[in-house]
Amino acid sequence: MRIILLGPPGSGKGTQAQLLVQRYGIVQLSTGEMLRAAVAAGTPVGLKAKEIMASGGLVPDDVVVGIISDRIEQPDAKSGFILDGFPRTVPQAEALDELLKRKHLKLDAVIELRVNESALLSRVETRVAQMRERGEEVRLDDTPEVLTKRLASYRSQTEPLIHYYSERRKLSTIDGMMTIDEVTRAIHRQLLALGAIEPKTHARSAAKAAPAKKGKAGKKAAARPAKTAKKGAKSVKKATKSAVKGPKKAAKKASKKTVKKAAKKTVKKGAKKAAKKVTKKRAKR
Ligand code: ADP
Repeated sequence: MRIILLGPPGSGKGTQAQLLVQRYGIVQLSTGEMLRAAVAAGTPVGLKAKEIMASGGLVPDDVVVGIISDRIEQPDAKSGFILDGFPRTVPQAEALDELLKRKHLKLDAVIELRVNESALLSRVETRVAQMRERGEEVRLDDTPEVLTKRLASYRSQTEPLIHYYSERRKLSTIDGMMTIDEVTRAIHRQLLALGAIEPKTHARSAAKAAPAKKGKAGKKAAARPAKTAKKGAKSVKKATKSAVKGPKKAAKKASKKTVKKAAKKTVKKGAKKAAKKVTKKRAKR
C-alpha cells in the first residue's frame, strides 16, 4: 500500500502515520524527519536545508525529490509506504508521479486531514509542551512566528495539491478535528473502501469500521471471523470469571448454554428441512 498524508502543520499527519505503520507494517517516509536528520548530521543536504527550515520556508524541490527517490529504493519500502510531508508542491507531486511510473508502482490514496486553522497553533503548543516534558529536543520551527510562516507556505504551495489529487481521483478528505482514534478509524474505512487493504487481514477493525450490510456477502464474510474472534474472547473471559466464582456455577452455566445451543440447532435443522421439502414440492410441480 502506498499512500500520501496531506495536511497543514499540526493536522496530525505524523501521529496518524505512526499508527498506520504499526497497523499495516509499512514504512513512514517523512521528509521533515529526513531533513532534520540531515541537518543534525551536517550533511551537504542538511547544510542547505537548515536555514530554510528554521524560517518556515520550503527546501528546494530537487533536494526533497532526490531524498525520496533514494528512500523508496530501500528494501523496507518495497511492501509499501506512507508519505508524510511529501509532496508539498505541485512540481514535487509531478516528480513523484514520474518516479512511481518509472518503478511501475501505484499510488493507492491521498488522505487529506482537514482541520480548523484556529486549532493548529494550540495543537503545536501542546506538542511543544509534551516534548519538553519528555525531555526531548524541541523543533526550532515550532514557534508561533515560524508556524505562521509554515501555514502560509502550506496554503500557497501545498494546498493546490488537493485539487491536483482530486482531479486524479485519488483524494479522500477526512475530518482531522475528530479524536486521534476516530481519525485512524476513518482512514482505515477509506483504505478499505478504496481496496488499498484487504478486509480479511484486518478483519477485526474492518468489521468495526464497515459493519456488514444485508445482501453483501463479501462484507459479511469479512466481518465473520472478527465476530467469531470476539465471541471466542468473550467466552474465555466469561469462563475465567465463572471459574473464579466457583466451578459449580460454571458447570451450570455451561450446561444451560449447551441446552440452548442444542435447541437452536434443532430449530435451525427443522427450518432447513422444511425449506428443502418446499423446494422439492415446487420442483415436482
Ligand atoms: P510540518 O509539521 O510543518 O508539516 P515537517 O516536519 O513535515 O513539518 O517539515 C519541517 C520542514 O521541513 C518544513 O517546514 C520544510 O522547511 C521542510 N520540508 C519538509 N518536507 C518538505 C518538502 N517535501 N519540500 C520542501 N520542504 C520540506
